[in-house]
Amino acid sequence: MQNRYSRQQLFTPIGQSGQVSIQQKHALIIGVGALGSASAEALVRAGIGKLTLIDRDYVEWSNLQRQQLYTEQDAQEKMPKVIAAKKRLQEINTEVEINVAIMDACIETLLPLLKDVDVMVDATDNFDVRFLMNDLAQKYRIPWVYGSCVGSYGATYTIVPGKTPCLHCLLKAIPQTGITCDTVGIISPTVQIVAAYQVAEVLKLLVGDDKALRKSYLTFDVWQNQHYEINVDKMRQADCPSCGNAPTYPYLSYENQTKLQILCGRDAVQIRPPKPIYYQFEQLAHQLRSYGEIQMNPYLLSCQADDYRIVIFQDGRVVIHGIQDIQKAKTIYYRLLG
Ligand SMILES: [Zn+2]
Repeated sequence: MQNRYSRQQLFTPIGQSGQVSIQQKHALIIGVGALGSASAEALVRAGIGKLTLIDRDYVEWSNLQRQQLYTEQDAQEKMPKVIAAKKRLQEINTEVEINVAIMDACIETLLPLLKDVDVMVDATDNFDVRFLMNDLAQKYRIPWVYGSCVGSYGATYTIVPGKTPCLHCLLKAIPQTGITCDTVGIISPTVQIVAAYQVAEVLKLLVGDDKALRKSYLTFDVWQNQHYEINVDKMRQADCPSCGNAPTYPYLSYENQTKLQILCGRDAVQIRPPKPIYYQFEQLAHQLRSYGEIQMNPYLLSCQADDYRIVIFQDGRVVIHGIQDIQKAKTIYYRLLG
């Protein structure tokens, strides 16, 4: 195994000392779907010292088209993603210490995982978790790399506490486009491009080459051949509640978390966002039409899927009928509404 990392060490910005540094570092990847699989594999091949993976889902057939760590057997056995991922990753590199957590990413589960973490990788599918990561990153001074993709469109941005504007500065409030991979689809090149940019940034952070970090917010559409870099230099807000002069870290507080509750005797779970979300029902109906039969009136939109019915109210409150499992409800919610 002597020359395992030789090609990476020949690359001058890494070199031998960079390789030693990579092997002493710990990355936390939040979500092990498509982006998380790609990042985890690349970091394990690069010889990262320690990797922690957190994900609440199990492998499904629809994942295999782009989630590169999983096999048909994993889907057949409904294997939890982190378990299947760890098995495959250890086959690739036995030297890496890999810790996994089959859990929903929330403040209670993420906080204990942050110990000695050098960098966090965003491979989640929703903004609730991203804003939580954003506040954790600022409070505990951990850099993180945002990444998102849907269809042929991707975006990524590197956040270094104290140096760059945070995600809150850039997006101000949680964007609610209602567009997700489960409603408009996703192609694997989109994933690979976002993950490649994320891993490059992680490697720069791990070897301490801060000067090389990309300072812009990058977006692209690989199908439409578009590529944009947005200059964020002036976007840092002095009064930002996450990274400003007097931070309150709003997404670490209970009031700002999306709340789920089993509705007693109704075989249903209610989901309440922290702030009202006013969806455009017409647009939402269009996005959800492949999921099931849509019914709509001025007060609510209902979508009847195969084994559950999701009802979205005017203020963003959602009730999913036909299930009593909070985790499953959460999965459906973020899949359909992002
Ligand atoms: Zn900020």
